[in-house]
Amino acid sequence: ATMPPLLSAIANAGRHGVLVKSAVVMERLGQVDAVALDKTGTLTEGSPRVTDVRPLSGAGLDEGEVLALAAAAERPSEHPLARAVVDAARERGLDLPEARDFTSAPGVGVTAVVGGRAVAVGAPARLLDAADGTAVQREECGRTAAELQESGRTAVLVVVDGTPAGLLGIADRLRPDAAATIASLARLTGSAPVLLTGDNPRAAAHLAAEAGIDDVRAGLLPQDKLDAVRELESAGRKVLVVGDGVNDAPALAAAHTGIAMGRAGSDLALETADAVIVRDELAAVPATVALSRRARRLVV
Ligand code: ADP
Ligand code: MG
Repeated sequence: ATMPPLLSAIANAGRHGVLVKSAVVMERLGQVDAVALDKTGTLTEGSPRVTDVRPLSGAGLDEGEVLALAAAAERPSEHPLARAVVDAARERGLDLPEARDFTSAPGVGVTAVVGGRAVAVGAPARLLDAADGTAVQREECGRTAAELQESGRTAVLVVVDGTPAGLLGIADRLRPDAAATIASLARLTGSAPVLLTGDNPRAAAHLAAEAGIDDVRAGLLPQDKLDAVRELESAGRKVLVVGDGVNDAPALAAAHTGIAMGRAGSDLALETADAVIVRDELAAVPATVALSRRARRLVV
């Protein structure tokens, strides 16, 4: 017997390295007319590296101390930024003390108690609100963060016992196929792809420009990503969401169709998404949409 078109399309998608979870999903992929992508780990390679360690004057810690405390707190996290911080500390041969009472907030950062000190690591804009520190320390922190972000780096703040103690500059590369993928998706869907990110607007704008994305929504919490997708859908769009993180899960679940990046993706994103990119190529997204379109023409 010949295979029904949607099933052959699933087999074909598999050859492109995409796991499509059902025939219904295979069909829905071809209906999308808008695309929203996450930044870290989706548009970027997701193997970021710490390029800068900048102690702030208030806490009196040196580079090694800031990095070691941050890495100890980040060790239990599966976020790509957390892995970058831990790797940087290991490369410098730093001893990582045990961390207790680990917590993580998607889109914000992590907290833990390290050697009796309360450590928080995460988005400067979110952590600075809760931190102590004089106006001068805050000004120093804001200025240093802005400087790192201007060059497209993600700035991560390390707060120790309530005081802003240092900033880490983290650089991630755009995927080599990002710009071509954005162009194909724009052509296929007839609409300009949107970037949804928890990162800072400055860092996001730098990367979006390289990828050819004009519509950038930054500083978003998981709920804000969800709201952005709902807004597009209530305007009548069928939205394809592409993401990798725990922070993308609500948006992946609510979207008309959700695709997760498999290699570095969080378990929650992989379970929530309708399809998973197993081979690490973003270009598989438009290829799969095109396969669906072709199969649907054969079905009807
Ligand atoms: P994106 O939407 O680009 O994938 P996230 O929502 O995962 O980014 O993270 C948004 C921001 O929150 C990051 O830029 C970072 O400042 C902060 N953040 C989140 N998780 C962590 C973490 N584990 N360590 C450090 N910073 C984090
Ligand atoms: Mg991400």
